[in-house]
Amino acid sequence: MAKEISQIVIDISKRTDGGNPFHRASESAFNHFIITDPDAKIVYANPAVARITGYSLEEIIGNRPSLWGGLMGKEFYQEMWNTIKIKKQNFSGEITNRRKNGEEYVSKVIVSPILDEKHKILGYIGTEEDITLHKEIDKLQSDFISVAVHQLQTPLTGINWSLELFKGFEDFANLSDQQKDAIEMLEKSSDHLHDLVSILLNVGRIESGRLTVKPELTNIKEFVDIISEELQGSIKNKEIEFIKDVSDDLPEINLDRKLVRELIANLLSNAIKYSHPKGKVVVKISQEENDIYFLIEDNGLDITKDQQHRIFDKFFRGDNARKEQISGNGLGLYFAKSIVEICGGKIWFETVENKGSKFFFTLPVSGMEERKGDVSVTPMRLNGQV
Ligand code: ADP
Repeated sequence: MAKEISQIVIDISKRTDGGNPFHRASESAFNHFIITDPDAKIVYANPAVARITGYSLEEIIGNRPSLWGGLMGKEFYQEMWNTIKIKKQNFSGEITNRRKNGEEYVSKVIVSPILDEKHKILGYIGTEEDITLHKEIDKLQSDFISVAVHQLQTPLTGINWSLELFKGFEDFANLSDQQKDAIEMLEKSSDHLHDLVSILLNVGRIESGRLTVKPELTNIKEFVDIISEELQGSIKNKEIEFIKDVSDDLPEINLDRKLVRELIANLLSNAIKYSHPKGKVVVKISQEENDIYFLIEDNGLDITKDQQHRIFDKFFRGDNARKEQISGNGLGLYFAKSIVEICGGKIWFETVENKGSKFFFTLPVSGMEERKGDVSVTPMRLNGQV
């Protein structure tokens, strides 16, 4: 087998063969591209590999990607090999590697098995995109947002405090309807601002790894009831039919309730927000082997095919949200995904044109692990939010 893949590679990658279109394309590619035999020995590497890693092609060919890799935790490589070798599927992830000069860099990596017609592995194809610069820009942006958001907290506290004080005045009851509407609008705007500030702070905390994780044994059914209750204002406002289908025999699991509340609250408030008035939202929770499966389904707006791959991206807002002028900040799903990852679960979705969207996530029955940090999340306000 190893011979076969090397032979194919020799045929297609003769460096003197300038007329071969595959050869030309791969030599011109900006991204790193390698082909290995089934033992992960590199049989082909394009010039971008040498440019990014700093090793010469002579040093690279015949070696393994561990020449510049091997810095990630054991679990990362286990999952990668399990995906490409056992499941024979594509693996993608973000990886930190080291150039020959010792400098670390971050790449988006995709590794796929090369299969013959009988589904046997002939070798592997790996591509990497060096995203170190993007990461640095992201970090600068996050630092800037963090400073701005901290500055916003003080005036926001002042506004909220004054509003509370105002509502406590004896004459409040004597205000005209127009004056009361103005106060209500002020409260809503302040809630929105509060939620924007909270989620920006929370995202910053989760990204910096400073977040405390404090799991407590939790009855999931009761927990979800409490969150749904908090959303009753929005559910009633939009006359949503809200159905809970929670299995009775779920085990109690160790969850950081503050974090998981934000996860469920974000998905639930999205389901309500992107529903049509009088729409239907269903929450289903069940156990399958070692995972608790959550489904939050709505029959509202769908997400167009060309945007589906972006909806967990930070600050991404879909055309559906813009067209219908639905308020938001594009952080809810990014934050939800980050929380699921801390919990050791998975999150995904399905959406069907004109039928709405289903968001799924899993939490392992084994529960969350405690983490010592110096901050915890600021909760979003849910009452009458949507
Ligand atoms: P937003 O503040 O815009 O709601 P999110 O990060 O929560 O930000 O969601 C990102 C985008 O995903 C939304 O702008 C919307 O386009 C889409 N989206 C999220 N949830 C749903 C849903 N339940 N139905 C339809 N579209 C959704």
